[in-house]
This record gives sequence, structure tokens and C-alpha cells, in this order.
Amino acid sequence: MRKRVYIVYTGGTIGMISTPDGYVPAPGYLAEQIAAMPELKSELMPEVEIHEYDPLLDSSNMTPGDWHKIADDIAAHDEQYDGFIVLHGTDTMAYTASALPFMLHGLRKPVILTGSQIPLCQIRNDARANLITAMMIAANFPVPEVCLYFGQQLLRGCRSVKVSASGFEAFASPNLPPLGDVGVDIRIHWDLVLPPSAESGLHVQELKPVNVGALRLWPGISAQIVRNLLQPPLTGLVLEAYGVGNGPTNNHDFLAALQEATDRGVVIVDCTQCLKGSVNLEGYATGSALAKAGVISGFDMTAEAALAKLVYLFSQKRTVAEIRELMQTNLRGELTMQQAKRN
Ligand code: ASP
Repeated sequence: MRKRVYIVYTGGTIGMISTPDGYVPAPGYLAEQIAAMPELKSELMPEVEIHEYDPLLDSSNMTPGDWHKIADDIAAHDEQYDGFIVLHGTDTMAYTASALPFMLHGLRKPVILTGSQIPLCQIRNDARANLITAMMIAANFPVPEVCLYFGQQLLRGCRSVKVSASGFEAFASPNLPPLGDVGVDIRIHWDLVLPPSAESGLHVQELKPVNVGALRLWPGISAQIVRNLLQPPLTGLVLEAYGVGNGPTNNHDFLAALQEATDRGVVIVDCTQCLKGSVNLEGYATGSALAKAGVISGFDMTAEAALAKLVYLFSQKRTVAEIRELMQTNLRGELTMQQAKRN
């Protein structure tokens, strides 16, 4: 019996065609290309069903509503398929790959996001290899996680970041080794893979409209701008700070703006601007002052994962204290436990 894989086609470069205005998604084109692939006749390849979304999106236009559509679609087809592929633009793929693990409760099958830097319509492309290998992994390697496959690496979705605007190795998971490497063989590092969920039945945690944001510190940042951003309706902020989570703490207005906001219940999560490594708010006075102002550590979470987690947690009926606690707790392998000492 051949395995069965459900392909959610949301848009992105992989299925785009060239026009005078640049690449645009073309309805029907990708399904035609896949149907014509000789590789699909191999016994090693799964039977596939493609669900093409309307409209097909450049992922720069995606919103949490689109994450929802994908999660609901996967949950509705969970019983009938061995694995899932989400074809997605690369620009916001790491955000969707970060949100889906939180939303999909009870996941026991692989969900693999992939796409490409060059579309299938071009003679030289990375689309074909990414697509075929993602299909083989989804069918034959039962990794029960939301993953991102790109440029010969299988990454945990909620650890992934886009690191190259044009290279074929466009994604990395700087704080977690790849879950799999693809060369002559497909090697899954099972010791890193999370066990299947103990919950029975896949269901989706509903996302509600929430007011969260991100702010990158820079040496000339104005306290007034920080204060303005922290005004209602904002409820959660990912503060992209320096190094191990430090900020300009000689700026008393800046600190006061943070303190006023956390006193009002705004959850401010400190993530590092560095690609690699963890926040440690006890390392420097410029970090501990942020903690004293009520900022919590995002440890080694990516900003993408921290934002998605804020959306997920603020969508539920939870107190601010619970959200602060859960932001510092490993829920889906998005942060490293040893480093997760509570502030
Ligand atoms: N702008 C495209 C998108 O994210 C880029 C890509 O797919 O690589 O949809």
C-alpha cells in the first residue's frame, strides 16, 4: 500500500510563473507540474492530493487567519493521510512553522512546510528537490512534529528562521541541530524528535484577534516611541534586545516606559537580536534592570516563535501571570529547558 500525503498549497515562489511585473502565483499550474513528475510513479513516493488555496498568496500577505485555515485543513484530513505538506512562500514560512505547532494539539503525524527560492517553472530550481524530498519524508519518516524542510535540512518549525534572501539554504534553526539531514541518505536524528502527542485526536486551538508586536532596540531608540508603542491596545511585545538580552538602561525614560507597561499587565518578552544563543537577564546590569522593570526572558526562542506563542496564549482565557509563566516554559520544543530559569 502506498502512503498518502495531503498537500496544502498556499502559494509562494514554488508555484509562481514569470510575468512582466515579476513572479506571481498561477492557479492550477503547480498541480499540473506535480501530476507530470515521473518521480511520482515510484513506489517510494506517496499518493498525493493537492488542495490549492484561493487566492494563492505571496506569504508576505499572510495573517494568523491563514495559519488558522492551514491548521483547520490539516485537522480535517488527519485520519485519511500519513503526512502533510504545506507549500508556502519563504518570506513568512518561519512564522507559520512557529505558529502551527502551538495550534495543532494532539499531533501524531509529520507536517512539513516547504517552498523554494526559484519556482518550478524555471529550468534550474530548488523547488523540485525540496518538494520531492519533503514528500518522501512526510510519507516514510513518521516525525510527529511541524517541521520545515529546505535546502537538505529538516528543521523543527518553531526553531526555524529565514537566514538567506537568495541562497538555497534559506533556513536555519540556530539553537537546535536539524531534525534531519539529507545527502545520499535521508537521516533523521530521532534523539531530537519529540514523541507523538499523548492527546487523542488532532484539534486546533482557536486563534483570536490579539494586539501583540515586536520592537528591535537600536542605539538611538527613543523612549517616547517605546512608550507610544506600549500603549493600549498592545498586550504583548517581543523586545529584540542586544546580546544576552541587554538594553539601554541608562535611559531612565525607556526603563520607566517598560515598567509602566508591565505594571498595566503588558507581557514584554526579551529575545536576543543574535541569531544564536540565549537570553540571560542575570548576565549584565543592562539586562537585570530590564527584568526589574518586569520584562521576562524569551531564553533561546526565536522572535518568530515568541510572537506566535504570544498570539496563541493571548487567544486563550488566561491571566497575565499564566501567560508570563507559559512564555518561559517549553511547550513544543521552542525553547531549551536547561536555560529556562524563571525570572
Ligand atoms: N515572496 C515569496 C513568498 O514568500 C518568496 C518565496 O516564496 O520565496 O511568498
